[in-house]
Amino acid sequence: MKPTRLILLACLTLLFAGCASAVPAETGQAPKLKKGMTCAPGIGPAQSESDKEKTGAMAHKVQKSEEEWKAQLTPEQFQITRQKGTERAFTGKYYNCHKEGVYKCACCGAELFSSKEKYDSGSGWPSFWQPHTKENVAEHSDTSYGMQRTEVTCSQCGAHLGHVFEDGPKPTGQRYCINSASIELDEKK
Ligand code: FE
Repeated sequence: MKPTRLILLACLTLLFAGCASAVPAETGQAPKLKKGMTCAPGIGPAQSESDKEKTGAMAHKVQKSEEEWKAQLTPEQFQITRQKGTERAFTGKYYNCHKEGVYKCACCGAELFSSKEKYDSGSGWPSFWQPHTKENVAEHSDTSYGMQRTEVTCSQCGAHLGHVFEDGPKPTGQRYCINSASIELDEKK
């Protein structure tokens, strides 16, 4: 066999070997991209159910375009709730607030936390030892910035609220560390 044919044969063998190794061992089938999907998770407009679970991007009851959220929210609220930002400690309007009432989502108005479960954590962010309306508060794994944390979002609209840590007071031992910009206090009259 001529050397050029040998090289061609070697290239074809490598190509097929490469394809075979890309087949997931669990299914034995090559991954398929749905129409409209990109390879990068969370960027494409359409995601499979399993991808949504992985990224925490479950379908929300309240859905608005980026432009609609921008028009509704202050620039700080938009950056924190829709782009997963964090306000500086000791700057938010609620970290030192002791008024009674229910804290609602700044984006969609869903009831999230209550002054009854709020406490002074000393962190500089409003802190709660449990959500007031559990079904409206979702938790997701967050590995951004090289840290392993649990992100807290509004389950109705997907707004980023903050994170939950395991160093809270009794009885739950949890600390829901929430951005003031993500919530609005509906004061008890
Ligand atoms: Fe919301």
